[in-house]
Amino acid sequence: MFIEQPPRFIRALYPQALWRMDPNEKAVYLTFDDGPIPEITPWVLDLLDKYQIKATFFMVGDNVRKHPEEYKMVVERGHRIGNHTFNHIRGFEFLTPNYMANAEKANELLKTDLFRPPHGHMRWMQYMALKHRYKIVMWDLVTRDYSKKLRGPQVLANVMRYARNGSIITFHDSIKSWENIQYALPRSIEFLLEEGYEFKLL
Ligand SMILES: [Zn+2]
Repeated sequence: MFIEQPPRFIRALYPQALWRMDPNEKAVYLTFDDGPIPEITPWVLDLLDKYQIKATFFMVGDNVRKHPEEYKMVVERGHRIGNHTFNHIRGFEFLTPNYMANAEKANELLKTDLFRPPHGHMRWMQYMALKHRYKIVMWDLVTRDYSKKLRGPQVLANVMRYARNGSIITFHDSIKSWENIQYALPRSIEFLLEEGYEFKLL
């Protein structure tokens, strides 16, 4: 599995994917994966509004189908949408045509040119096919907010330790991460602001 700040050899697996933005710029880029869901996504949106931050939401197509109102809220409040497949599938478990078809099915709803592979997994052929169709966005820092082994303060500690210029930071608007982001997301934003980072949109 990927650790909080993926090392060079991991990044080299998908060299044309976006891992980090300009390292000379005092800015970070928030991303949220796996939504939208009514239990969490509106809470995240209200928090982002409070700080006037725009973020990118890598959505699961089937969640958009089930929760069109929450999808609309994200769009109407000025955030960017990314494709995270229709069924949150693992690349290694699918043949490339089937994987691409699942991503395309999601894109009928999402209509975006950004893609993030669930679990960070893509077969080489999937990567090759995806990069012609989408800008593939990975991350410079995954907070691991979804982990049952971590509590909120540890997720916050990950942000404090690994955030740097140009970091693309990954949180999740999912049930799994709810306990942790309630604590860690507002505090992470406060910390990053105090450190002088600007929040920018991909
Ligand atoms: Zn995901």
